[in-house]
Amino acid sequence: MSHARRRRTALLAGGVSVALGAALAVAPPAGAHPTATRHRDHHAVATGRGGAVSSVDLDASRAGVRVLRRGGNAIDAAVAVASTLGVTEPFVAGPGGGGFLVVYLAKQHRVVTIDGRETCPSLCTKNLFMENGQPLPFEEARHSGLAVGVPGMVDTWGRAVHRYGRHSFAADLQPAIRQARRGFRIDRTFREETKESLPDLRAFTASRHLFLRHGKPLPLGSRLRNPDLARTYRLLATHGPRALYSGRLAGAIVHTVRHPRVWNGSPLDVRPGIMRRRDLTSYHVDQPAPTHVRYRGRDVYGMPPPSSGGSTTGEALNILSGYDMSGDRALALHHYLESLRYSFADRNRYVGDPKYVDVPLHGLLDPAYAATRRCLITDHAAASPVAPGNPYPPYGACPTSTAHGTTTPDHEQSTNNIVTADRWGNVVAYTNTIEHFAGTGMTVPGYGFLLNNEMTDFDFAPSSPDVPDVNLPAGGKIPRSSMNPTIVLRHGRPDFAVGSPGGATIITTVLQILINHIDFGMPLEKAIAAPRVGNFNTPTSFAEQAFVDLSVAQTLESRYGQQFSVVSGITPLDSEIGAATGIRLLPHHRFRAAAEPVRRGGGSALVVHPR
Ligand code: GLU
Repeated sequence: MSHARRRRTALLAGGVSVALGAALAVAPPAGAHPTATRHRDHHAVATGRGGAVSSVDLDASRAGVRVLRRGGNAIDAAVAVASTLGVTEPFVAGPGGGGFLVVYLAKQHRVVTIDGRETCPSLCTKNLFMENGQPLPFEEARHSGLAVGVPGMVDTWGRAVHRYGRHSFAADLQPAIRQARRGFRIDRTFREETKESLPDLRAFTASRHLFLRHGKPLPLGSRLRNPDLARTYRLLATHGPRALYSGRLAGAIVHTVRHPRVWNGSPLDVRPGIMRRRDLTSYHVDQPAPTHVRYRGRDVYGMPPPSSGGSTTGEALNILSGYDMSGDRALALHHYLESLRYSFADRNRYVGDPKYVDVPLHGLLDPAYAATRRCLITDHAAASPVAPGNPYPPYGACPTSTAHGTTTPDHEQSTNNIVTADRWGNVVAYTNTIEHFAGTGMTVPGYGFLLNNEMTDFDFAPSSPDVPDVNLPAGGKIPRSSMNPTIVLRHGRPDFAVGSPGGATIITTVLQILINHIDFGMPLEKAIAAPRVGNFNTPTSFAEQAFVDLSVAQTLESRYGQQFSVVSGITPLDSEIGAATGIRLLPHHRFRAAAEPVRRGGGSALVVHPR
């Protein structure tokens, strides 16, 4: 389903304006990063020992470092950061959402995952978002009770700490409890994020009360305290993570979804949802095996379906393995964009919830299959949408298909990524979200957190009449995600970890950071800061303005026929792609934490003992 959002893109080369989705990031020539001049000190880079944290927010990163200092490990720190983000970044995080966590366990020398993605309530059918034979407009669906999935966030935290932490769940929640009680100062970014979802926040009585003043964003410099969320976290600390899934908290969630309390001056038509208590009681996270591909001597681990992060990045890396990416930059970027075109064609056709549809994951990650996609790439940009391939062996030699390919218009900018590492060598990459900025806009009254609208990641109607759609809603099913927490090992040891927000641009952002760092030799922080570009099997590639200002963009256009659409929109956030975070593990037990320096106001990278 096209989420037909507000973002607008304009063709670089004098073309028509198109209303499409996202932008991506690609590597600029060294030293040419135009956004570097806007750099503000948000602790975007830190080097030192004892462990490291990188997140989108200073208070949250500090919470993680505090836990590491007190003997917690990377898993404890990740939970402390995520729960604190529920306070300080409530529009992109918190107990009402879900996410995917990838962990490198040093002692066992293995990578595990937690799939804490929201599920569709058991009463969901493929017609969840259909009305009178028509799909609901996204703008209507996003603030409806129908959009709310059963939140997986708190069960993720509980499972992670129980299985892999050193501290107790209750101890890991303490920084967030304190933060919620004390509050935090409203900055420019928070106001921008509020504006992104103002009509939704205005519509719900509890959200107006908590996040707005007289229906307007809170003034700069004012303090937002959230005693309700402090109480919610205390309840969870006392009774354990399952307290969200039964008892009064579960009752309050279900009641909010089924009977949203709408402010009586609101013009919005808010449809109630279909969640029941038993949907919460029966919710449990899953722990699927990570995806794995080899790339230039590294082992790249990511998130398997229902996320398309690991499989799409993995397929693109396998395609790129066949090229020398260290030479001519324009040619390397041409191959990067084309690898995305073909990988997204496959992602859109094949990746859904593997409990409900057959996902040919083995084929999608098979270098032999990637060879059949690579051989379709020429010296000229392909005309998208290109067709999906056939990832079921035996693969054809260089097959062309007449199947119908689809593009990916989804390009949201919400979500957050956390990376933590500890002195024992454990590493966590954790991408989590409540989907759109502020999710549905519904705060659970008396509990201080917003409910997700993750079910809008389903296709509302089949995306093409002649191709099976693997991403339609069903009871218990998880919508396809793009979240892409990634851990890279080299010579058997963790090398770096990275992840990003940004809807489907998450995939292109992470892939671009990987090639920036691995192929183009940029330090991780530069790889993260670099202007972005990418392709979702769309005729034009999406780009930040800073990318099209580079001379390499002109070369891509004149030499390879690539075309770019610059991302822009109503708020400054709409013209950015992916406030990513990462950590590099250096020799001699040192760490280099890197956060986005500019986008979304800049993130925060910290180490326990700065050098
Ligand atoms: N719901 C999106 C996904 O799972 C992430 C939301 C966003 O980044 O805006 O792919």
